[in-house]
Amino acid sequence: MKTLGVTGGIGSGKTTVCGFLEEQGARVFYADIEAKRLMQEDEAVQSAIVDEFGPTTYREDGSLDREYLAERVFGHPDRLDRLNAIVHPRVFEAFSAAEERAADEGIDLLVHEAALLFEAGGDAHVDVTAAVVAPDADRVARVAERDDVTPDQVRDRMGHQLPQEELRRRADHVIVNDGSLNELRQKSVDLYWTVLDA
Ligand code: ATP
Repeated sequence: MKTLGVTGGIGSGKTTVCGFLEEQGARVFYADIEAKRLMQEDEAVQSAIVDEFGPTTYREDGSLDREYLAERVFGHPDRLDRLNAIVHPRVFEAFSAAEERAADEGIDLLVHEAALLFEAGGDAHVDVTAAVVAPDADRVARVAERDDVTPDQVRDRMGHQLPQEELRRRADHVIVNDGSLNELRQKSVDLYWTVLDA
């Protein structure tokens, strides 16, 4: 079995690519969803977060107050590092477990999808990496529509991520999402076979 890290900036199309890889038989581990799940459900993660950021990080009903946490870490790289130091190792642990299960079940390709694959060090946990890049104008228009936010809000989020040129430089494979969804499907199928045949 091979493991592939898929990343890309906001609205680049990485989740769409992962869906096409799933159609080919790949299994996808969504790191960002796993991180959210851990923060919401895992007692050890919760108690480490409370120790670091205070009890009001969780509401009385036990749900995570994302806005409060975002306010605490926004503009404080040291705090963000501490939050990541709590969550990331547990995400990688979950990925290892997913890897074992997938191998046992005869899956050919396990994909690790993460918006911040390189920033979080997720590239060290996979065999190869792929970055999905797309024209900024398309990304802004698609996310504004999908999330019902303004183009400026999307550009603001883009400004907090690695530039696409950097992703291109770091990734082993690059998918340029500058055409139709059908073209993106074909590029994803090509990537699937390129990784498996390597
Ligand atoms: P995020 O980081 O915000 O989750 P993402 O990189 O996972 O974004 P997607 O959710 O895959 O991006 O794509 C963003 C939106 O753009 C989706 O609604 C998707 O259907 C659409 N989209 C992606 N690629 C294309 C394309 N080539 N043609 C038309 N629509 C597309």
